[in-house]
Amino acid sequence: MKTSGEAINLILNCGSSSLKYKVFKSGTELCLTGGLVERIGAPDAVITHNACNGKALKKITGEVSNHSAAISMVLERLLGEGGFGKKQLKAVGHRVVHGGKYSAPVIVDNEVKKYLKEVTFELAPLHNPFNYEGVTAAENNLPGVPNVAVFDTAFHQTIPDFAYMYALPYRYYIKYLVRKYGFHGTSHQYVSIQAAKMLKKPLSKTKIVTCHLGNGASLSAVKFGKCVDTSMGYTPLEGVMMGTRSGDIDPAAVLHIMMEEELSMHEMDTILNRQSGLMGVSGISNDLRDIIKAEASGNKRAALAFKMYCYKIKKYIGAYMTLLNGADAVVFTAGAGENSHPMRAEVLKNMENIGIITDPVLNRAMVSGRVGEISASASPVKVFVIATDEELMISALADKMT
Ligand code: AMP
Repeated sequence: MKTSGEAINLILNCGSSSLKYKVFKSGTELCLTGGLVERIGAPDAVITHNACNGKALKKITGEVSNHSAAISMVLERLLGEGGFGKKQLKAVGHRVVHGGKYSAPVIVDNEVKKYLKEVTFELAPLHNPFNYEGVTAAENNLPGVPNVAVFDTAFHQTIPDFAYMYALPYRYYIKYLVRKYGFHGTSHQYVSIQAAKMLKKPLSKTKIVTCHLGNGASLSAVKFGKCVDTSMGYTPLEGVMMGTRSGDIDPAAVLHIMMEEELSMHEMDTILNRQSGLMGVSGISNDLRDIIKAEASGNKRAALAFKMYCYKIKKYIGAYMTLLNGADAVVFTAGAGENSHPMRAEVLKNMENIGIITDPVLNRAMVSGRVGEISASASPVKVFVIATDEELMISALADKMT
């Protein structure tokens, strides 16, 4: 989509071997274009330029040696066929998973870069080095354009100390910054803002439980627009059961398994992060769709995995409604949250006495990109399905900073 010289924001989300991008007209919610580079570093990388609805416009296969090369290729397209001018670029917004001490987005300068490298690389070794690479690649390709880092952890920095501390010897908090950080913050923030709009109430007067249920999954309790607790912790392993992650577990069980099976730390880490959750219990898949299909054909372990997955979400909703002393709304978002009506029905059943009454017809209808309310009109607590848009939130935050 061409624009006639208006300011735009480029939003980058760099994974270990991928780069997602979206372009927004700055100051608005209008997405102009987007795309995805996969298999960065491999000779057969795939670059897909998309319309904003995710529909592929152009697919190219070829070598993309690193993130800097990927960003150069994206810019080449945006500034060439895309019809954008370099001068239109107001800001580059970056998704950065771990922000350590940062409680808000920052414009990246040398001091921020030093902190990100020295502190956060250790806190999120699988994510932050790649997010950082995106920042340096943008600096090299677009000198003079401000880079805004938006952290997944930042929204959770309002959690009070008694909620973010672990009951470990205090020295480990001082020495190693071991505490709850929380993740998916940009998504929790975005959907809570949208939910307030749907409630027709100012955000500062709302109490909302947000459920981000995708490949990774976390819930947050959001009081008056600020996060007061979240289910993920020091790492994204804590909390509810996920596709391949265990979620909450007694640490003594982990120690016992390590001892009995003589496992290294790395091996146990792999088991907890990559071989547990839906995958570990069912033995079939980490994808909720496969689990529901297998359950329907009589697979008992799939049925158990589904029940466990829903049960753990239900427990957190209950806990967070207690923390908030009642909620105005519960929000479901991300891949499973937006699309799986059987999961939502199972999570939300038998909650009338705490004010949640689901409308089964509305619930079944809210799939394949449809969003809206799924609670009955008599339900004191509203339940919404909202499509998350982390890139849009990053663009809005970048606008505020530049
Ligand atoms: P995300 O990380 O937000 O992209 O979510 C991806 C995950 O959402 C997948 O791994 C699936 O488990 C889940 N998902 C997506 N669509 C559906 C669906 N229709 N039913 C159940 N789960 C779904």
